[in-house]
Amino acid sequence: MTTKQIFEYFDKMACVTFATLDGKGYIESRVAYFCTYDEDGLYFWTMSANSFYRQLMRTNKVSAYAMTPQTVKHNDSQRVLLEPGYTIYISGDVRELSKNQVRDKAQTKSGFYLATLGTENNPGARFFCLYAGRGEIFDYDYEKVNRTHKLLRRPFSFGGMTAVEPGLRIADTCIECGLCLEVCTFDAIEEGSPFVIDGTRCEECGNCCSVCPVKAIRHKEDTMHQDEAAALGQGKANLCQGKAAQGKANLAQGKVS
Ligand code: SF4
Ligand code: SF4
Repeated sequence: MTTKQIFEYFDKMACVTFATLDGKGYIESRVAYFCTYDEDGLYFWTMSANSFYRQLMRTNKVSAYAMTPQTVKHNDSQRVLLEPGYTIYISGDVRELSKNQVRDKAQTKSGFYLATLGTENNPGARFFCLYAGRGEIFDYDYEKVNRTHKLLRRPFSFGGMTAVEPGLRIADTCIECGLCLEVCTFDAIEEGSPFVIDGTRCEECGNCCSVCPVKAIRHKEDTMHQDEAAALGQGKANLCQGKAAQGKANLAQGKVS
C-alpha cells in the first residue's frame, strides 16, 4: 500500500486521534489530521507550545487511529449494530521539518500549499513527517451486509518498517478436533492438517484459544521480532501457548474429551 493510499483512507475521516507518550509513560491522545503526503511519508502539523509537540520531539514516535463515523444503533438485546466500515491505525517514527523544507516541498507539490499557509500564518506552527510506519486497515462488516465474513484486515508498512501479519496461528500440535471451528464466528478457521486460521479474517478474540485442548493456537506476538516480543513481556507473548505442556499431559491422561 502506498503513502497516497494510506493518506486517502485517513482523509475520509472526520476525526483522527493521535497518541504520544508523556514523560511519565502515560499515553496522551488528541484529535489532529494528516494534511498531505508524498513518497517520503505522511505529514501533519501542530503548535510549538503544546504537549503534543513536546512529546513528538522527545520520542520521535506517534500513533494515529480513526474509525468510519456512524450513528450507533442497538438491537432488541441492546447489542451494538455497526454499519459496514473500517478503522485504520498507524504507528511510526516522525521527524520535524524546517519551514524552509516545507516551502521547498510546496514549490513542487500542491498538497503542501495549505501546510505552507498554516506555518506562514502561525509562527508557532511545527510541521512533521511520519516517515516510517506500519498499521492496518480493519475493514468490518459485522452484520455481513456486503459479504459472507465479518472482517478483512489489511496490514501495511512503509519507510523500512515491517507490517505485522494479523490473526492467530495454529501449530503442528493441532489434533484436528474441530472445537476451534465451532466457536469462531468470524469464519476464519479452515479444516486441515493442521487446521488453519486466515489471519485477514481473525479478530483475535481468543475464543479458539480457550477451547483448544492442546493449546495449539498461538498469539501473533509469538511470531514477532524478538525485540518486540521481549518488549511485550514474557507473560503476554505466551498468552495462548503457556499451558501447552499441561494440555498435552491432560490429553495423555484422558482428561480431555
Ligand atoms: S481468535 Fe477469534 S476470530 Fe480468530 S480464529 Fe480464533 S475464534 Fe476466530
Ligand atoms: S481446537 Fe486446537 S486441536 Fe482442535 S482443531 Fe482447533 S487448533 Fe486443532
